[in-house]
Parts: sequence; structure tokens; C-alpha cells
Amino acid sequence: EHAIKNILVTGGCGFIGANFIRLELAEREGPSITNVDALTYAGNPDNLADLAGNRRYRFVKADIADRSAIFDLVASGGFDAIVNFAAESHVDRSIDDATPFLRTNVLGTQTLLDAARAAKVPRYVQVSTDEVYGTLGPRDPAFEETTPLAPNSPYSASKAAADFLVRAAYHTHGMDTVITRCSNNYGPYQFPEKLIPLFITNALDGKPLPVYGDGMQVRDWIHVRDHCRGVAAALRRGRPGEVYNFGGRSERYNMDVTKAVLELTGRPETLIRHVTDRPGHDRRYAVNCAKSESELGWKQTVTFEQGLAETVEWYKANSAWIDRVRSGAYRG
Ligand code: NAD
Repeated sequence: EHAIKNILVTGGCGFIGANFIRLELAEREGPSITNVDALTYAGNPDNLADLAGNRRYRFVKADIADRSAIFDLVASGGFDAIVNFAAESHVDRSIDDATPFLRTNVLGTQTLLDAARAAKVPRYVQVSTDEVYGTLGPRDPAFEETTPLAPNSPYSASKAAADFLVRAAYHTHGMDTVITRCSNNYGPYQFPEKLIPLFITNALDGKPLPVYGDGMQVRDWIHVRDHCRGVAAALRRGRPGEVYNFGGRSERYNMDVTKAVLELTGRPETLIRHVTDRPGHDRRYAVNCAKSESELGWKQTVTFEQGLAETVEWYKANSAWIDRVRSGAYRG
């Protein structure tokens, strides 16, 4: 097990990074964390505002593709590990313009790898996605770590490119790298452009829920807390050069997720609006997590029904957070 006392986390003002930092800081004997984030539209300082006085937490505003800023930070930080959450993460935006995805997801990842190698950072964790595996037919077996990569969107293609660069850093330079690939996350602090928070916030406001195509796409939903526990386990116990999948054992049709949100918010199904499907939309994702369970001792703990109910309650209780996101006030 790697002793981890000082971590550089990237993209910590986003949804999953913020949850990961909270999880690590909640451990009494846990590590110190430096959070480097460029504060794009997806980076919300409100997500970690209450950590301002925490001695184990430090924020640095920088772009992971900014070579001199990242080299300076990594050279002087004395980090035991880098955990890279920073990314452009929204598929629809990558369809409109892939350029920022290449800059952050591909060039940014290589910049972090180069800085880690120069400073001899002992461990590098790349947070990736099951979308790099492509799409499944209704009866295909779930993605395994050995499933060939076949990304279908500019977003997933950029994440796959990053995974290959991490693989190359391990094979070429002998770096100690680990890649995690997780299914669709949901939970607190998720930007309301993604399906579950968009539908919860629209439903709470009595606004229509735009469902892509027939709504029969299948996703495997995992609560963000379980994903973060997985990243924490891979960081400490993952074998160098290996890939670990994480999923929620909760394959659901988008339409069923939509109906569940309406039921939990007490809204009628007449709010459902079918809209033109996303081009190249993957039909089904499903993840086999047997390797993470046996090698890392990781297990999914939150059921989809429990997690979704909890998430609806979080958005209900945090209307000020939503208002500041919607009005743009969170950008300061
Ligand atoms: P997010 O969009 O909520 O957050 C991304 C964060 O990265 C933001 O704070 C943003 O400001 C920051 N960022 C963007 N470009 C940057 C740059 N050039 N330099 C520094 N910071 C930058 O994303 P998320 O949903 O929290 O996803 C985090 C990671 O997990 C991503 O790598 C994503 O590919 C991966 N992932 C997400 C999911 C999911 O369901 N959301 C599933 C599997 C994997």
C-alpha cells in the first residue's frame, strides 16, 4: 500500500473532484491536498467554499495544459501522487467544438505526466471513463479492463487518447501510473447540464425534461461517493500500469431514470419531452468491476434507488447553490 500524505488533485472544483477532496479531508489522518483547477464554466469554487480555513487544503488556479505553471507547481510541491480529474467532460459540448477537449484532456494529461516525471512524483492516477470502450448491444457482456477501446464521441476519443498517453508513460518511461474507468456518476455538486441534475432541477421548477430520442439508452449509474472510494483505493493499492473499472451494478434505461426523478419530485410524466437524439449516441454502457473488487477490495455500497432519493433531497436543500450556478454568480 502506498503511503499518501500529500496529493495534487486536478479539477477539484468540478463535480467528482470536489467529492473526492471532501472524502480525503474527512479522514482524520488523511493527506494534505493541493487542488489545481482552471475554473472553467464547470469549476465552481462554491463546491469547496467551506474548506477555506482547512490547514490540509490549498487551492491553486491554473490550467493543466500550462506547462510552466504546472512544472513549477509540481517541482515545488513534494507530492506523493497526482490524481487527474481535470477534463472537459460534457459530450454535447464536444460535438459542438472538440478543441478544448483536445487541449485539456490530451495536452493537459501529457503536461501532467511530463511534470510528474521531471519531479519524480511516485504515483500518477488518471481518472477515465467507461465511454472509452464504446457502446454495447443489449446482450453483450459488460466492459472489462481488457475490452478494446472504441470511443464514439469527441469527448470519449479525447479521454481514450489520454489513457493511451498514460499507458505510454508507464511502458516507455517506467512511470508508476494507474487508470480508473468509471460509469456514469450522479450525486451532490453535479453541474445541472448532465442528465440527473438537469432533470431534478427542471422537475423541481415544474419545467419540461428533454429526453434524447426514445429514451431507451442504457447507462450504469454509480453514486459519486462509491466512485471516489474507488479512486482512493486505486491510488493506494492499484498495481502500476493497471486499469481498474468502477460501476454501480445499476443498469437503467434513461426513460426509467426520468420517471424515477418525476416520482421522487412529485411531478407528472406530462413534463417528459422527447427531443432529437444526440448524434452518435451510445446505446448501452455496462461495466464489469470484478477486478477492482478482488484486487482493491472495493465494493459498490449505494444502491441506485437510495442514491437517487438522497440526491433529489440534496438538490432540494441546496437551491441557493443551484441559483448561483444558473445565474452565473458562481463564476465570481
Ligand atoms: P466536471 O466537468 O464537473 O469538472 C471538471 C473540472 O475540471 C472543473 O472544475 C474544471 O474547472 C476543471 N478543468 C477543466 N479544464 C481544466 C484545465 N485545462 N485545467 C485545470 N482544470 C480544468 O467533470 P466531472 O464530472 O467531475 O468529471 C471529472 C473526471 O471524471 C473527468 O476526467 C471525467 O472524464 C471523469 N469521469 C466522469 C464521469 C461522470 O459521470 N461525470 C464518469 C467517469 C469519468
